[in-house]
Amino acid sequence: MSATTGHGGEATDLAPLDSYRSHVLARIAPLEPLELALLEAHGCVLAEDVAARASIPRFDNSAMDGYAVAAAAVEPGTPLEVLGEAAAGAPADAEVTPGGAVRIMTGALIPAGADAVVPVEEAEEEHGKVTLRVAPAPGDHVRRAGEDVREGDSVLGAGTRLQAAELGMLASLGHNRAVVHPKPRLVVLSTGDELVDPGGPLGPGQLYDSNSFMLTALAREAGAACYRQPIVPDDREQLQEAFEGALPRADVLVTSGGVSAGRYDLVKEVLAELGDVEFTRVAMKPGMPQAFGFLASGAADPVPCFGLPGNPVSAYVSFEVFVRPAIRRMQGRSDLNRPRIAAIADEAFDAPPGKVTFLRVMLERGDGAWHARTTGAQGSGLLHSVVNAHGLAEIPAERTRVERGEQVLVHLLVDPA
Ligand code: AMP
Ligand code: MG
Repeated sequence: MSATTGHGGEATDLAPLDSYRSHVLARIAPLEPLELALLEAHGCVLAEDVAARASIPRFDNSAMDGYAVAAAAVEPGTPLEVLGEAAAGAPADAEVTPGGAVRIMTGALIPAGADAVVPVEEAEEEHGKVTLRVAPAPGDHVRRAGEDVREGDSVLGAGTRLQAAELGMLASLGHNRAVVHPKPRLVVLSTGDELVDPGGPLGPGQLYDSNSFMLTALAREAGAACYRQPIVPDDREQLQEAFEGALPRADVLVTSGGVSAGRYDLVKEVLAELGDVEFTRVAMKPGMPQAFGFLASGAADPVPCFGLPGNPVSAYVSFEVFVRPAIRRMQGRSDLNRPRIAAIADEAFDAPPGKVTFLRVMLERGDGAWHARTTGAQGSGLLHSVVNAHGLAEIPAERTRVERGEQVLVHLLVDPA
């Protein structure tokens, strides 16, 4: 892909969104596998197949509280001698012999000589004898060794995401660790002379840094371990120092601001000096100026870096379109994209020619379909348009208008209620 640089905004010299996005994602690989303690691996993707190293259950055990018996020797109504007891966690203190039964608890090992359990509800015990109301068949209320998982079976494949059930399965097989692709460590840096940390006083022309908070939250929601660095002014040396300082702690670096065509857009220059970074004007709105590449990081592998535009909505949408799928890929996940739905436009939308437009929309269910309307004015600096958005409606590059009642594709930012 050739980087498109320079001024102007004619659609003709813009990189098509799809090919640019594929080009970027093709250069991102899953992180090297790491062995983590089970709960540290929660949400991570397994990097190797796991075969059962034992059967589950490991031994035949009772599915009920009741009496363990030899099925063939039971006459309903004829009392059996209670020979002993079997509790969960230890072998029974007696064997079952014809004419006898062992009192047994759920999960206890089936005693020698027994092949069935009669539930306590079907039994009457008095003076050391038990009378059973039913004639059991062999195997009744017995959980067989290996009926859940057989030793040697493949239980979890590489690529499986470790959620609650998978962690439970690993633990039940005796694993206290798992080999997974770890969470990517992402460092977010806001750049701009005008930026001030929220909470402090503002001078004339200054504004609070919103992007780094928003991007850090987005990165965490996408599954990264994310750190927000202090604001960096538009100063070549300070930018260089901040980027270089962040690299040893980062599997991916995300900057906001300074990649468009302004006089103080030094991020561009500094990134170009630190590594192999392309500056591309992508056919999308918002989010046209994009930087992506790899920064050299001493002896370690080069670190991928996304330079996002500073307008808050541009930063948000760029994160969704490029950084989120990259984080997913680094985690070893194959579900890179947000779920998408078709929705009916409840209002007409205008869109610029030659660019994919992402509108922030609210969704509502009605007449068996989803309906979309914009969250309000859609300027790339209007952060309010993202607040309360349920999704991003994607208007294809060739469309300049969507009429009310037409269908649009919406990338879901939240679960629709
Ligand atoms: P830039 O991409 O640096 O040219 O910035 C474009 C616009 O986004 C300017 O109006 C900036 O003031 C604004 N901006 C840049 N960074 C941030 C940030 N971290 N938080 C809020 N607004 C920002
Ligand atoms: Mg700036």
